[in-house]
Amino acid sequence: MKFQLLPSTFDENGKASQRQHLSCFIIDDFVAIDAGSLGMAANSIQKKQIRDVILTHAHIDHIAGLPLFIDDLFATIKKPLNIHASEKVIEILEKNIFNWEIYPKFSELENDNGIVVKYCPFEIGVEFEVEHLKVKAIGVNHKVPAVGFVISDGNSKLAITGDTAEMDEFWRVVNNENNLNALLIECAFPDNLMELAEISHHLTPQKLKKELKKFKQQGCPVYVKNLKPMYHKEIIKELESLKINNLQILEVNKVYKF
Ligand SMILES: [Zn+2]
Repeated sequence: MKFQLLPSTFDENGKASQRQHLSCFIIDDFVAIDAGSLGMAANSIQKKQIRDVILTHAHIDHIAGLPLFIDDLFATIKKPLNIHASEKVIEILEKNIFNWEIYPKFSELENDNGIVVKYCPFEIGVEFEVEHLKVKAIGVNHKVPAVGFVISDGNSKLAITGDTAEMDEFWRVVNNENNLNALLIECAFPDNLMELAEISHHLTPQKLKKELKKFKQQGCPVYVKNLKPMYHKEIIKELESLKINNLQILEVNKVYKF
C-alpha cells in the first residue's frame, strides 16, 4: 500500500515544507483520507484518479481542500466524488461549508455527466469498501464527532487515529486486528501545552507515551503525525527524549510503502 501525507505549505525554494498545517493522506494515488490540502497539493495523477475521500472529522484543517478539489473538477468530472463520512460530519459539512454562503451546495448540482458529489455515510464499527480498500471507522476522543480508521488492501493493513486525546475503543479494535503494518497517531502539542491539549482533545508526547502502552501489537512501526507547525521542533525533541521503540515522525510528501 502506497501512503503519502500531502504537503500543506512550501518553503522559499518551492520545496514541500515539513510543517503540517493540514491533513490529507493519499493511498495508492486513488483514495484520500481527509482533504486538508487535497485541492492544493494533489498532483495531476491524483487529481485525475481520486474519486473517494474518507473523512475523520470536519475541522477545517481536515477539509479545507475539499471545496477547492470539487470546484476544480466540477465541469469535467465524469464519475461523482464519493465523500465517505459519518452522518454527523456530512450534516456539519452541508450546514456550514456547502451551504451556498461559504461555498456552493455541490450535492444539489449536476454537470453534463450527472451529479458531481455523492455522500456515502458510514457507521462506526461496520466495515465498508472504498475502491480496493476495506475500511472500518472507530470512534476516537476529540472535541467534535471524530473517527480513526483501520484500512486494509488485502496485503497490508494500517490504523490511523485522526485527531484525538486518550482512547480506549480505538485500542480495543486495533489490538484485535492481525498483522498491522503501521500505526499513525497524532501528537499535536508539546508537553508544556498540556492544558491546551486537554481542552482541545489532542495528545502531547507524554500522553502519547501513555497511549502506546495500550497498543499491544509488538514491533509495529508507529508514525507520528499532526504536529502543530508552531511546535514542530519542540514536539520532535520531546518525542526523541522519550525513546519510544519503533516510533518515527511521518515525513510530509514522502511516499511510504506499507
Ligand atoms: Zn480536529
